[in-house]
Amino acid sequence: MAITAYKANIANHTTFGIDVPVRLVDISAVDELREALVRFPQALVIGGGSNIVVTAPPEQPVLRILLKGHTVLSETPEHVTVYVAAGEQWHGFVEWCVQYNLGGLENLALIPGTTGAAPIQNIGAYGVEQESCFVELTGIERSTGRTITLQKQECKFGYRDSVFKRERANQIVIIGVTYRLAKPPYTPHAQYKDVAELLSNNRNPTIQDVFQAVIQIRRQKLPDPAEIGNAGSFFKNPIVSRVVYQELKQKYPELPSYHVDDDYVKLPAAWLIDRCGWKGKRCGAVGVHSRQALVIINYGGATGNDVRNLAVQIANDVYDTFGVTLEPEVSFW
Ligand code: FAD
Ligand code: NAP
Repeated sequence: MAITAYKANIANHTTFGIDVPVRLVDISAVDELREALVRFPQALVIGGGSNIVVTAPPEQPVLRILLKGHTVLSETPEHVTVYVAAGEQWHGFVEWCVQYNLGGLENLALIPGTTGAAPIQNIGAYGVEQESCFVELTGIERSTGRTITLQKQECKFGYRDSVFKRERANQIVIIGVTYRLAKPPYTPHAQYKDVAELLSNNRNPTIQDVFQAVIQIRRQKLPDPAEIGNAGSFFKNPIVSRVVYQELKQKYPELPSYHVDDDYVKLPAAWLIDRCGWKGKRCGAVGVHSRQALVIINYGGATGNDVRNLAVQIANDVYDTFGVTLEPEVSFW
């Protein structure tokens, strides 16, 4: 089997749509991935390119994970366990689950990207994170070329976080993920504010109802990358101690917050950014979305450094105003 690296523009493979020349290697089989990792041990890895900002042409080729397929591994009266190849579109997999009335991931409808990237930042939306159905993942370890399996506790999932963003960053290329979905009777999570409001006349929402509600809300609220370049939420919501929160709350009584645990509170980054006057602001080819202050957009022709500079200005402003550090959610290449 011979893999080839070919010239491409990363704009066509990322949702930000920023022009940067790269060398791509399409990976459609696990053997191709092994061969690519032998030839290019430091290669970058891309799925749907929906969480990446490219600031300069990478020296290494980029492996585009196109592994396809899913398999039902086992079934009990309560659950179905499914292995999904890393290159499958995440939304397509969620749609499949909903079609077969398998519950657990319906709140994660319409998240762009691939299944293989889902564990990297433990994708989450509308009160659910992928970890709630996650069983294990399989990957190729770069240092040894071995196929390894990591169980849930080894992935150390957190809020938009996992071991793959920390101590195991760039060490494993994920080839597939196993999820355990719930069979009926199953009560979907419909308590998240926007979902609850939309389904307020529905006393017993089904998996399908929640799936459709999330799609409707997302289509109304979020910019479609097919129309305007973006990578979704640019920053994570900062988590601060209750002491810091109390001080801020005294100064800004209208500051929203969400319970994390007895010691910590989550602050909505969008509120902090909006309060600093960034919502809807344009700076040349980049700007902050007018409906969603967490989303940085490419009006066309932006460079990765335009995006980075704007992000730095926003984060500095938020820090100077509130003393709170914003951490990017997206990866920079
Ligand atoms: P990529 O952007 O291709 O890659 C992201 C990172 O993962 C990179 O570091 C890459 O090297 C690594 N990676 C990718 N595939 C693999 C693999 N197989 N093995 C090892 N490493 C890999 N995120 C949420 O959590 N919740 C949301 O609701 C949400 N909404 C979004 C809405 C929009 C409009 C957009 C543009 C983005 C949104 N995101 C959201 C962010 C993004 O969609 C997710 O993080 C998604 O999981 C990224 O998948 P991807 O395949 O595009 O990853
Ligand atoms: P939203 O509902 O306006 O809420 C703003 C923020 O408040 C969210 O980021 C959310 O945190 C937090 N929040 C709201 N209700 C909460 C609760 N009951 N408990 C804890 N935290 C709560 O947010 P939105 O922008 O419209 O997005 C809706 C959902 O889709 C959110 O879950 C968001 O994370 C997800 N989303 C993510 C991306 C991305 O790129 N990561 C892009 C679009 C949407 P959480 O982010 O922790 O949920």
